[in-house]
Amino acid sequence: MTNLVLFGPPGSGKGTQAAFLIEKYNLIHISTGDLFRYEMSNDTPLGQEAKAYMAKGELVPDSVTIGMLRNKVEKHPDAQGFIFDGFPRTIPQAEALDALLTSMGTEVAGLISLDVGEEEIVQRILLRGQTSGRADDNDEATVRKRIAIYKSETAPVFDYYQSKGKGHSINGLGTIEEIAERLSATVESLS
Ligand code: ADP
Repeated sequence: MTNLVLFGPPGSGKGTQAAFLIEKYNLIHISTGDLFRYEMSNDTPLGQEAKAYMAKGELVPDSVTIGMLRNKVEKHPDAQGFIFDGFPRTIPQAEALDALLTSMGTEVAGLISLDVGEEEIVQRILLRGQTSGRADDNDEATVRKRIAIYKSETAPVFDYYQSKGKGHSINGLGTIEEIAERLSATVESLS
């Protein structure tokens, strides 16, 4: 199994690149943001709980997020591997992911971070907000709050995997194809 974590700040292009990687490496894409939006659109209890946090640019509590992620992984017992996009976003989530994969006899092969500067991200998200219909993409204060939470809660997840020799970063600026090339080269360098 090849399990990848696609990492980087909001708006860094994780979803776009995940679409390319699942095709190329035959992996299952799990985006916790997409899962929450799906629950919200169906107005489920989980969606209702997540909505309040997401609209404010805050993280949904770990207990909720980890349970949802585990359910999704367990629905794919025959997967050749997963791409985790938007998860883990906290150290407890990283520890829970490692425990889950260990219980399945596998592990994270590598975490790949898309490096994009803060002002570029803010511009990209506000542009996306004009068409995405996402409330959290429309308001600059909410976008900046997401970036602040990324720095305080999520960036340490990179160090967590780097200390295990599994942290990689690539330049997230360029065309979609250029970034996909960099990602492929990194995936193929993983043992
Ligand atoms: P982006 O990467 O552009 O911020 P996502 O779609 O990944 O967008 O996430 C949108 C929102 O969903 C986050 O701001 C957060 O409220 C919630 N969310 C997604 N993934 C997680 C997670 N792993 N832990 C907690 N909250 C999450």
